[in-house]
Amino acid sequence: MGGAEFGFELRVCAWAERHWTPADPDSRVLVARQLGTQRRRWDTVLVEADPAGLRARAAFGPDELDADLLDVVRYAPADWTYYRDALPDPGYPWRYVREAIHRASARGVLEERKRSNRIEIRRIAPYPDWVRRVVAIENKPDLDASAARALANQLERDVALGLADEVWVATRADRTRALVTEMPSAAGVLTVEATDDAGGGRTDGRLPGATRAPAIDADVAWHPRALDPDASGVRVTDHGDPTTFEYVAPAEKRETRARIAERAYGRGWRAYADTMRPDCRAFDLRRAGDGHVPYCHAKDREQTAAECSGSCAEFAPEPPGWRQRGWPIEGGPGSAVKRLLAERRRRHRPGLGDRSADTK
Ligand code: SF4
Repeated sequence: MGGAEFGFELRVCAWAERHWTPADPDSRVLVARQLGTQRRRWDTVLVEADPAGLRARAAFGPDELDADLLDVVRYAPADWTYYRDALPDPGYPWRYVREAIHRASARGVLEERKRSNRIEIRRIAPYPDWVRRVVAIENKPDLDASAARALANQLERDVALGLADEVWVATRADRTRALVTEMPSAAGVLTVEATDDAGGGRTDGRLPGATRAPAIDADVAWHPRALDPDASGVRVTDHGDPTTFEYVAPAEKRETRARIAERAYGRGWRAYADTMRPDCRAFDLRRAGDGHVPYCHAKDREQTAAECSGSCAEFAPEPPGWRQRGWPIEGGPGSAVKRLLAERRRRHRPGLGDRSADTK
């Protein structure tokens, strides 16, 4: 992903977090990036969540529940029960289920005990039905007509599968014509006025940027058609001649959506700081529209997540002098940046503060 695309994607995420209008007005909107399935990864994913369900989900902590944990947690009973009586037959050896139970217990999202050499389980809380809708957005700031055609093929497959409730393309306003004419009519087109609007001074991980850059301007150039995640979908399995495909049952789609939603809950869209080097003295966060984007003072531009690593030729660790307060336990500006982004993520996951064990 190029620098322009990375920065554009972060701006779209920030805009969506603040301005997205969910289908149900009371839905809460979670935003994540680079999520999907083994076969398909979307740039931006929005989960429109039932507000009470989202708060109830917080009982299971800030981290995502993977597929195995989800299978255990969802079926865990209110009272102590032998695990094989409580959980549906997994269709694979029970020892894998036992491993998941031990992991869930260690995470504090399930209780387990041993009675007469049998493992019994009990839930800590009912796992809520918190996901209302899933919206997928492809971010393509710089598309010409031929690249748009390739993207159109991809979106046609998304529409046929119907895993998301809506699929969209976000692009720069001046690219709209190529997109609208090439995209399948079921896909929406969002035009984003993504100027190079990073502003504010060096943050050094403290509350960034005293000055706020103008908000990103986004408009709907084409409304999408609502897809039906509860209906069977069609997945292309071979693009040869003839093209082969398979049907995907609604139950499989429901499972996949639940896993995507869990990943969105755990990761959000600010996790880029976990793989970049905010502990480099050149690293900065700058305001851009409704959010922040990483900025590199050594390169004098926004850097990509890939180039901002320990192997970067210009990487220079932040000096100990920057770390005096709280160092080394709480770290310097680099750690402060991570804490700041984690705090912003937490704000959109109500109820997490009720769990004293959550320290992330
Ligand atoms: S110099 Fe390299 S490691 Fe340091 S902030 Fe810039 S891109 Fe990241």
